[in-house]
Amino acid sequence: MIIDIRDINESESLVIRGSLNEDIWQLEDSDLLKPSGGLNYDAEASILGEDLLVRGDFSSKFTFQCTHCLELFEKTINLDNHSVLTAIEGNSTIDLTNALREDIILALPNFLKCDQGDEKNEPCPASGKFSEGLNAGNSGEESTNDAPSKQWEALDQFNID
Ligand SMILES: [Zn+2]
Repeated sequence: MIIDIRDINESESLVIRGSLNEDIWQLEDSDLLKPSGGLNYDAEASILGEDLLVRGDFSSKFTFQCTHCLELFEKTINLDNHSVLTAIEGNSTIDLTNALREDIILALPNFLKCDQGDEKNEPCPASGKFSEGLNAGNSGEESTNDAPSKQWEALDQFNID
């Protein structure tokens, strides 16, 4: 993403909108995510003293693997109202690709479940099983049929600790 400083008036900012569709991410095959689209940007560039300030919204979609059920799913990483400040140092063009790549990579979550993706339809099947088990335990406790047995009390104690 190259900004031409000569396009920017000193008094007003330059609107830059578009997307970078080349693979800028340099991800390893062993990483649990893959790029799934370009880097979209909707920002304004302005000159601030000796620096170039680019401020706006940046987003990019990735395919993640759920850490619970290993399902693949897509999630968009958004950097809203994000700013990048770069020293101009007499250059007529400035490439912001590296700075933006680093900022988005830093914003990537580490342990994502499939129900945190862009399409939040189904809860993760792996975590669903887990919470169903907990609910069954709770409803058993609230049952009016039988007084809780000594075993249940012991289990409750165990859960609290
Ligand atoms: Zn999952």
